[in-house]
Amino acid sequence: MSEEPPKEQPVKVFAGAVYECVRCGTKTTQEELSRLPEVKCICGYRVFRKARPAVVKQIKAV
Ligand SMILES: [Zn+2]
Repeated sequence: MSEEPPKEQPVKVFAGAVYECVRCGTKTTQEELSRLPEVKCICGYRVFRKARPAVVKQIKAV
């Protein structure tokens, strides 16, 4: 029997995706959320909605 160590499967997430707490509006990134043991805002709420990505294209009007 071959014994292979379980490989870590990277979770497919959108890098840089920003989530916003629907209660207090605190924005957090997917990266930050994945670091936590559970998806939870600093205010204790667990409902997030997807916000716009941090990178915003802005066109300068001259
Ligand atoms: Zn919150």
